Amino acid sequence: MFYYMPVKVYEEKDCVAKHAEELASFGRKALIVTGAHSAKANGSLDDVINALKSEKTEYAIFDKVEENPSVETIMRARDFGLSENADFLIGIGGGSPMDAAKAIAYMMKNKDLTSEALFDKGAVSDYLPVIAVPTTCGTGSEVTGVSVLTRNDIHTKMSMTHKIFPSLALIDAKYLLTASRNVIVNTTMDAFAHLVESYINSTATEFSRDIAITGLKYWSLSREIILNNEKPSYDNLRNMLLASTYGGMAIAHTGTSLPHGLSYALTYNTHMAHGKACGYFIGGYLAESDKEEVGTVLRAAGFSSIDDFNKYYENTCGRDTVSSDILELSIKDILTNPGKQKKAPFPVDEKVLRRIAL
Ligand code: NAP
Ligand code: FE
Repeated sequence: MFYYMPVKVYEEKDCVAKHAEELASFGRKALIVTGAHSAKANGSLDDVINALKSEKTEYAIFDKVEENPSVETIMRARDFGLSENADFLIGIGGGSPMDAAKAIAYMMKNKDLTSEALFDKGAVSDYLPVIAVPTTCGTGSEVTGVSVLTRNDIHTKMSMTHKIFPSLALIDAKYLLTASRNVIVNTTMDAFAHLVESYINSTATEFSRDIAITGLKYWSLSREIILNNEKPSYDNLRNMLLASTYGGMAIAHTGTSLPHGLSYALTYNTHMAHGKACGYFIGGYLAESDKEEVGTVLRAAGFSSIDDFNKYYENTCGRDTVSSDILELSIKDILTNPGKQKKAPFPVDEKVLRRIAL
């Protein structure tokens, strides 16, 4: 058996302040990477700035990362980071800024390369150190080597080829207290998708499965609060954030499977939030999977059946009507991606994909 996840992880209240010295130890000047608003509103940006100031470490801020970050944004941030002479990255936010920080770290280290190198297996894999501070409870990007980017040249989203794990993850559920119901609902569905797609995956091992089941148990502790639209407490949010981090640890080993692969065309073409788009295909994926494995993941998450999960999805995310043209693009994405097909522990052909997606 094998498991590799080389991120130093701290999880606690006031985590950033408590680990200021370590946060500042990765270089001389940090490029802080955030979205436009949330890091300022939830206190995470101030915490990071105060920690760096307390250690007399310089910083510059790039706060223009959009949801589902594009390669164009990565290149703008790279130019800014180089002009500021930054030598390490701090990604604060949901998956978008954390993933962006990884790709920017790659492009800053390899400043003579063009953006094509992000997706070129043959290119060097060096990068500047990255620190991740998650503020949503979905992607687990703080513990994965993955960076998902929007490629406007080919009208879809795609993972960067190079594995870029953060050196340090500082995890504090207090940043989630200001998140809207929408952000919580969508990102908890992403975490659920990671846990399920990792457990029901041809590359799963006992290590990754134990991690996925632990994550599903944390997830189950807070799911009713979300279903009933109650205001989540710090502890409720912490459960979901831990589920998300465990989900990241699980997919760091296995990768995701068909629901994630199918989701990208949906998000690109309809702007459906990432977690909601993955959840759209989970019921169909479970229906094709081994009954025993399905029973194990559903039980761990507190669901009695696939129908029970489908109802939860409808009542939280809401099931949108998606045009068959777009779903055909989702199916095509998998048919042209043998690597993704192999992640499913059952034979995948067009018929199976149609049953899952349509
Ligand atoms: P996100 O795209 O990072 O952020 C979604 C929205 O939530 C933004 O409007 C953001 O505002 C807001 N937000 C973030 N934290 C908040 C908080 N604490 N309070 C209030 N609002 C907050 O969302 P995400 O679902 O976490 O990330 C999705 C991205 O991650 C996708 O590109 C997806 O493909 C990728 N992903 C990566 C991995 C991986 O392993 N690396 C896995 C799954 C998904 P601001 O823009 O103002 O910050
Ligand atoms: Fe995801």
